[in-house]
Amino acid sequence: MDTIPPAGRVIILLGSPGVGKGTQGIRLSRTMGWAHVSTGDLLRAALKAGTALGLEARRFMEAGELVPDDVIVDLVREHLAAMPSGRGVVLDGFPRTVPQAEALGAVLAEEGRRVDRVVLLEAGEEVLVKRISGRRSSPGGRVYNVHFDPPRRAGYCDDTGEALIHRADDQPETVRKRLAVYHEATAPLVGYYDAGGVLVRVDGEGDIARVQAALLEAVGVAHGSTVASD
Ligand code: AMP
Repeated sequence: MDTIPPAGRVIILLGSPGVGKGTQGIRLSRTMGWAHVSTGDLLRAALKAGTALGLEARRFMEAGELVPDDVIVDLVREHLAAMPSGRGVVLDGFPRTVPQAEALGAVLAEEGRRVDRVVLLEAGEEVLVKRISGRRSSPGGRVYNVHFDPPRRAGYCDDTGEALIHRADDQPETVRKRLAVYHEATAPLVGYYDAGGVLVRVDGEGDIARVQAALLEAVGVAHGSTVASD
């Protein structure tokens, strides 16, 4: 697979809930100076701000179901339009269905861009469940895990001292629903992007640094690139 050209790269992080898309997406984008676009984070921010979008999305999120494609596609389109097209972007949690992937392709094509690489992060079900059940995040979006990456003081963010949040949709019943939705609606994207020749698989079971190194390699920037410090 060719090395991706430097400007305006579009990388998709694909994988089951709990596989580490958020943690790795933030790290990859910081390391490379790219934008990190997490539709889950955008929806949670809309919910917190009490916008019409947030209110519409709420019931789907709380049930562990997907927010309708048209709502999500509009959200991402607006977000991408507001950022310079020369800037690389890491998409985390989007697309999650084949129609979303098709819409993304069309939005990018309008700007002469395309999806450069799709990284499928993979981990076994046992690891996923442990990661999700241990996940805690700060209001500012820093993600911890009580098993693998705990804060220095239990329950509080190292950076801001704010109390950490246990997401409502990280509770066991909703997690099971989210995993089922992933297998049904999102897993077909593996075949979709594989057929397009842009899919790379990365083992997501190792520790954070090891997965990060594999991810950098998978997006073709491990060697010889100018990398900002993390
Ligand atoms: P995440 O933080 O990526 O796990 O997303 C949390 C929840 O937001 C999901 O369970 C969905 O309800 C909703 N969501 C996030 N991204 C999408 C998307 N691309 N399509 C539909 N729903 C989404």
